[in-house]
Amino acid sequence: MRLLLCEIENEGSTVERELSQTWLQEVLSGAGPIEFRALQGNTISLKARRLGLDVTIESSFTLRLAPECAACAREFKMDVVVAFALNLKPKPRKKKVLADDVELSSQELDEFFYEGDAINLEEIFREQVLLALPMYPRCTPECQGLCPSCGANLNQGNCGCDRGDLDPRLAVLQTLNKH
Ligand SMILES: [Zn+2]
Ligand SMILES: [Zn+2]
Repeated sequence: MRLLLCEIENEGSTVERELSQTWLQEVLSGAGPIEFRALQGNTISLKARRLGLDVTIESSFTLRLAPECAACAREFKMDVVVAFALNLKPKPRKKKVLADDVELSSQELDEFFYEGDAINLEEIFREQVLLALPMYPRCTPECQGLCPSCGANLNQGNCGCDRGDLDPRLAVLQTLNKH
């Protein structure tokens, strides 16, 4: 997934690319403990502009994913909005060798580069997709999750275990009252 500089018109260009499901799934596998499944037919869209040698990229699109609920582990469908804007500069040619103890300033670390006559969209989108993913997706805001004792799905009713799910503040009061 590359964007050639010559594809960007002077007045800016809107680019749409269909995402390979395999590629997206590979990116999602880096999401951490929660599993996100890539659904078919996801497209990215971006607007690119050139300002001298700099290129700005603005992008906003919705991914259709199927994550596992962080509470009950049920797979559900979810729209994840990816939106970002960044500025890319041409990668500087290898400078004189830097001494080992010279650290990059934080500003340099925040800069994005392209190399030669093309922008590597894969790298950019990999990072932005991962940033956009929710840490704890829930199938519904009211999801009750699983019983910690027996593993029953509490959305399907109470399993009858004593989960001591009394409000912890009330529990403290109860203990105090006993003394
Ligand atoms: Zn759930
Ligand atoms: Zn239970």
